[in-house]
Parts: sequence; structure tokens; C-alpha cells
Amino acid sequence: MRKPIIAGNWKMNKTLSEAKSFVEEVKNVVPSNEAVDTVVCSPAPFLGQLVEAAKGTNVAIGAQNMHFEENGAFTGEVSPVALEDLGVQYVILGHSERREMFNETNDSVNKKTLAAFKHNLTPIVCCGETLEEREAGKTKDLVADQIQKAFAGLTDEQAKQAVIAYEPIWAIGTGKSSTAQDADEVCGHIRKIVAESFNADVAAAVRIQYGGSVKPENIKEYLAEENIDGALVGGASLQPASFLGLLEAI
Ligand code: 13P
Repeated sequence: MRKPIIAGNWKMNKTLSEAKSFVEEVKNVVPSNEAVDTVVCSPAPFLGQLVEAAKGTNVAIGAQNMHFEENGAFTGEVSPVALEDLGVQYVILGHSERREMFNETNDSVNKKTLAAFKHNLTPIVCCGETLEEREAGKTKDLVADQIQKAFAGLTDEQAKQAVIAYEPIWAIGTGKSSTAQDADEVCGHIRKIVAESFNADVAAAVRIQYGGSVKPENIKEYLAEENIDGALVGGASLQPASFLGLLEAI
């Protein structure tokens, strides 16, 4: 049985005091780590203080991006070494917003995925199609390509521990979520691709989240599907009540 993983992606929202009070409010209420992995992915400037605030609780802290190099002349970038040193446990990689607006490519996502494992960070590797790509029938080939390229060079053990987030771009922040059946079909395809690239054991272990307009009212439908092991949530992760509402579905 794969353990569900619910991750909030705050994107570029909150001030430090808002971020800290969120963690204070949810940290003793989230379910046990045996039931679910709970992750809050915050903007980089708050990560260290949120790790401290969440210490000893069932809330893990994640970053939303990082560079693949350990250090050097990369003005404005965040190093995986620094994230590990702060006690950050997860990092979102290849989010469609970064692919669209910040030149993230399959190649850079692959380098970052390898760097994440080198620094004891669990990558949440995102994939997903635009509406045009969906309508052209390209969804499965596109996500297969994204995941094969992102996972190139991982060991079986690393691939098992990685988290994949399938986020159809047309469903992000639009209120137009994919049906649970459609999302499961794509997640099932991703699992098949992982089996072909690695083996059946890896495919059975890897966790695949759905993301795109997930909220407390619809999360159960997704989690009921065979190939969906959790959710990567934007808007509905911003307020403690709705974040805890997502976790109540477990
Ligand atoms: P929404 O939940 O706001 O649609 O955002 C999804 C997302 O992009 C999470 O990474």
C-alpha cells in the first residue's frame, strides 16, 4: 500500500508572519505520519523558520524550486546544499509555472531531480499538458516524455522514493478540475511508463499525486482512484481550515 501524500504549494503567497501562523495553527492537528505525509511548500525566504516551527510535528517543509548546482555564480538561485542544511525535506521540481515562465526544461528538471537525491531532498516532479495538447490527443505521450527525461539516471531506489505530480495545466487555478477518472487514466499511464523505464516494483511503489483545482470538497474522489496517491494543492492549501479539510479526507 502506498502512503498518501498531500502537499500544499503556496506559490508566491504569504508574508513570514502569515506563514508562521499557518504552521502554528495546523502543526498539532495534522494526522499522524503513519496515515499520510503532509508537506507545506513555502517561498524560499521562510523555509528555515518554518522548519523550526514544524520541528517534532507531522508537517514536513518543502521548497518550490532550486538550482541543480551546489554553489557558485548563480545570482538569485537557491542551492540544494542550503535546503538540506536548513532541514527542508521536499522540493517541487518542474512545475508548469516554472516551465512556462522561467525556462525550466526537461533537462534542467532531470539535473535538479538528481541533485535532490544527492542532498536528501524528496523531489515532487511535476508533469502535465496544456489544453491544446490535451485536445490534440498528446497528453499521454507528453507526460511520458516529461517523466522519462526527469527520471533519467535515477537508481531504482531513488525512483521509488520520488513523488510525481500530474497537473494538467488547464486545471491549475481555474476551478476546472480533471475528472477523477481522467486523472487516474493519465496517472495509470505514468505508472506504466515507470514500470517500463525501471521495473514493476518501482512502479508499484512510486507515489503519483493529482494537482489542479483540488479542494476539500473533491479530494476524496481523486484519492479513491487506484493510481492517485495524493494531491499537490495550490489555492486550497493557503488557509489552515481548507488545508486541514484536505487532510480530513484521508
Ligand atoms: P490549484 O490547486 O490552485 O489549482 O493549483 C494547483 C497547483 O499548481 C499546485 O502545484
